[in-house]
Amino acid sequence: MEILHVSAECYPVAKAGGLGDVVGALPKYQNKAGNNAKVVMPMHRTPFLYNNEFVVDYKGTIQFGPSQLNFTIIKEKTNKLGFDLYLVDINGLTDRTKVYGYSDDSDRFIAFQIAIATWLNSWEHNPDIVHCHDHHTGLLPFMMKYCYAFQNKLQSIKTIFTIHNGEYQGWMDFSKSILIPHWDEWKRGQMEWADKINPMASAIKCCNSVTTVSNSYLGELKHSCNGLEPLFEYEKGKCFGILNGIDNEVWDPSTDPRINHHFSAAKMEGKAFNKKELCQKFGLAENLPLIIFIGRLVGEKAADILPDAILTTLYNQFGKQNFLILGSGDPTVEWKLTEINNQFKGYYHCELGYNENLAHKMYAGADFLLMPSRVEPCGLNQMYAMRYGTVPMVRSTGGLQDTVTDMGDWEGFGIRFNNATVSDIHYSIGRAVSVYNDKTHLNWMRQHMMSIDHSWETTVDDYQRIYER
Ligand code: ADP
Repeated sequence: MEILHVSAECYPVAKAGGLGDVVGALPKYQNKAGNNAKVVMPMHRTPFLYNNEFVVDYKGTIQFGPSQLNFTIIKEKTNKLGFDLYLVDINGLTDRTKVYGYSDDSDRFIAFQIAIATWLNSWEHNPDIVHCHDHHTGLLPFMMKYCYAFQNKLQSIKTIFTIHNGEYQGWMDFSKSILIPHWDEWKRGQMEWADKINPMASAIKCCNSVTTVSNSYLGELKHSCNGLEPLFEYEKGKCFGILNGIDNEVWDPSTDPRINHHFSAAKMEGKAFNKKELCQKFGLAENLPLIIFIGRLVGEKAADILPDAILTTLYNQFGKQNFLILGSGDPTVEWKLTEINNQFKGYYHCELGYNENLAHKMYAGADFLLMPSRVEPCGLNQMYAMRYGTVPMVRSTGGLQDTVTDMGDWEGFGIRFNNATVSDIHYSIGRAVSVYNDKTHLNWMRQHMMSIDHSWETTVDDYQRIYER
């Protein structure tokens, strides 16, 4: 099958979170399974763009409300990611270093989607599937079906929409509809939710199938999805939950070039050296359990309660564990977390920012990974942690509950808790400290979690079944 993935992120080109990891891996494994999968994304100004060679694939013009904008699509020359990668450059809208966070994001992503529809319209054939990811690409299925310029050629192409995060839906005022090329006004309802243009709702209505990144999350969306709950109930016949895989080539403790001491389930010695190195770098006590948090410092990840939970633990069980935090997000949370640096030197360190190298070193060197998320559609961190023999401590929600079992249960290898509260986190850290001191149990858990297969191969089959359907 020829599959075109449309996304705002794709690792290693540009990544802000799990979406990037998924779009960087899924097409590669789809190609290994005999498909012809490609990725198209905006030409963000990231190092990947400057360090690789590209050829021009297409040049065109889009009508964008009253303006005409030129755009260019370039293709990476060597297929180095395991799939064809296309980058869309639109004058004045894509020349940014970050993926999101600009005041004109709505305009940027609308223009990106018009450019893709224009480009697809110029192809001599049609791809079998256009696979859109998250709300930034949610209006494309509408455009393919109901914009007069595109519908003759594109409306028969099957479209899939994957929801990586249902909290963000891309809402915008209906006045933005003038930016979309002349469309069938009778179909206004296919773009709208609660009097606004809602790209996520539009994609759910217009696509042939909708997937979410875990089964539990699909169930949760019917009860809690920022106002779209009835839509999920209504469209449930075409919605499926498919758990993300992880890229075992990128995330492999026995070969990972970002870590200094390689290890595997059969030869674990390297893990202790990684921990030693990490503790020395951040001045932490290497004989104590090392608990890490990696992620966006936002409410979804329950980052707001993290400072209190850590402080409570440090006061109540001082000297029994270390914390190492890596993240960025809410400035208040960032400030609170860095304040603890001076207070508990030697037992705590917070590193602000986005640091891919350090993240790998932390998964490799830590004993426990804390994820108290309020919402976690799939969660990749816990799967990376498991691959590196780091025990996940997770709240029972979404993909976390689909991938982690509690050590108190039969063959359980992780720590689960029910509430995103200071007391649940504090209690779970107590459990972590006691299992850390029971080396036989801890080693068994490590061996067991490292043997679990979360590779993309099985996930690719699940997507294939939906495409074929
Ligand atoms: P989400 O997409 O909701 O942010 P996921 O668990 O699906 O969460 O994916 C998060 C990805 O982003 C993982 O690869 C994680 O290692 C990475 N990540 C998040 N924050 C950082 C950071 N500050 N530095 C490095 N990597 C990070």
